[in-house]
Amino acid sequence: MNLNKKEYDVVVVGAGPIGSTAARYAAKNGASVLMVEDHGSIGSPVGCTGLLSTRALSECDVEPSETFVLNKVRGAFVHPMNGEELPIDGKETKAYVVSRKIFDRTLANMAAKEGVEISLKTRATGIEKNIREQYVQITQEGVERKIRTKVIIAADGVRSNIAKIAGLGQVDKVLSGIQIEGAYQSHDTDFVELFVGSQAPGFFAWTVPVSEEISRIGIAIDAGQKSAQECLENLLKTNKHLSSRYNGGNLDIVMGGIPIGPLDNTYSDGVLIVGDAAGQVKPTSGGGIYTGAICAKIAGEVAAMAALENDTTAMRLSEYDRRWRAEIGKELALGMRIHKFIGGLKDEEMDELINSMNEPQILDTITIYGDMDHPSILIKKLLNPANSRSLFRIFRAFAKSVL
Ligand SMILES: Cc1cc2nc3c(=O)[nH]c(=O)nc-3n(C[C@H](O)[C@H](O)[C@H](O)COP(=O)(O)OP(=O)(O)OC[C@H]3O[C@@H](n4cnc5c(N)ncnc54)[C@H](O)[C@@H]3O)c2cc1C
Repeated sequence: MNLNKKEYDVVVVGAGPIGSTAARYAAKNGASVLMVEDHGSIGSPVGCTGLLSTRALSECDVEPSETFVLNKVRGAFVHPMNGEELPIDGKETKAYVVSRKIFDRTLANMAAKEGVEISLKTRATGIEKNIREQYVQITQEGVERKIRTKVIIAADGVRSNIAKIAGLGQVDKVLSGIQIEGAYQSHDTDFVELFVGSQAPGFFAWTVPVSEEISRIGIAIDAGQKSAQECLENLLKTNKHLSSRYNGGNLDIVMGGIPIGPLDNTYSDGVLIVGDAAGQVKPTSGGGIYTGAICAKIAGEVAAMAALENDTTAMRLSEYDRRWRAEIGKELALGMRIHKFIGGLKDEEMDELINSMNEPQILDTITIYGDMDHPSILIKKLLNPANSRSLFRIFRAFAKSVL
């Protein structure tokens, strides 16, 4: 596909949800914007469960439309290794199960409407950088060329090459995830199911209902040598709750990495890194759309303003880093500490934690203050002495390690 111009104020690499949002905000703020995407189809292949909090949708400026919302959920059943499931009922819609393919296309279309030029089957293979102008090297159907721009926004996902080439490194910790979509007799389609402990080493497994008969069943692990696929196969065989509802077979399979713990630095002369490429993902849930969208809007705005001012130095672009850390930096840092604490619990300790939360007063506190985007709110409430009496032992360890 021919590009309209040889020169743009901003070039966005990657047309995932975060790239599309950054591109839209750059265009909204007056920049000429090109977004390049390696694949020939936006939103495909999918690498996601598609569970988006109500807040994630509004952060992306979209209404929960029937075109991509497949189901709504209001809570979770948490399954420890031993003991009863913990029912967490948010009492109202907390998240939507979406078709990521249609969702991603909705966001790309919004960017196009704002004037963003989109080039598919276009891979960014390198960058040439100096203070005032940058070149993005691209390959389109075997043909190489260079595009001149003032700012490059790298939204190229978990294996970001651009961050590496720009000397900003790569996210250290990447969890391995795998998910199938298949026939599963859902207990209640208003609830997701979470499986914790050594059945999902270092993170958790899930079922997310698409309908009464179809669910997305997945696992993410933080366990160096183990394979996520083996862990999922093993879980589906050995966990009685799952094996009684799932009879094998699948309609779809998704594999991918979940980067947690943001880059130390997300800007340099003429370059901004955003979304999974920057590790802007919630370390407690692995969700990256809500946090990524917050950062993408800031990236788009700062990139456009800097380009129009003709000052795209690292110092000018540092505004982006400062602003996104002010919005979500503390929550991500606390999330990392919670992730490490939970990952270090033995099965008996995790069972004890889950079982001790199964009390009316604590469940009420979770209903009122539980927030999948901001776990710190609930943690502060649970640390209230009235609540933490029954959680005392485990929370004392938690407070020592996390706070
Ligand atoms: C198993 C699994 C389940 C998940 N479930 C959820 C969930 O339920 N909810 C949630 O919020 N998050 C979830 N996530 C995380 C979520 O998928 C990511 O946070 C989100 O997709 C990040 O968006 P992004 O735009 O930064 O990157 P991506 O969606 O990865 O998009 C990056 C884009 O860049 C393109 N690209 C890469 N390199 C180049 C290049 N050199 N040139 C041109 N294009 C390039 C890629 O083709 C891709 O389209 C899940 C992740 C996994 C692995």
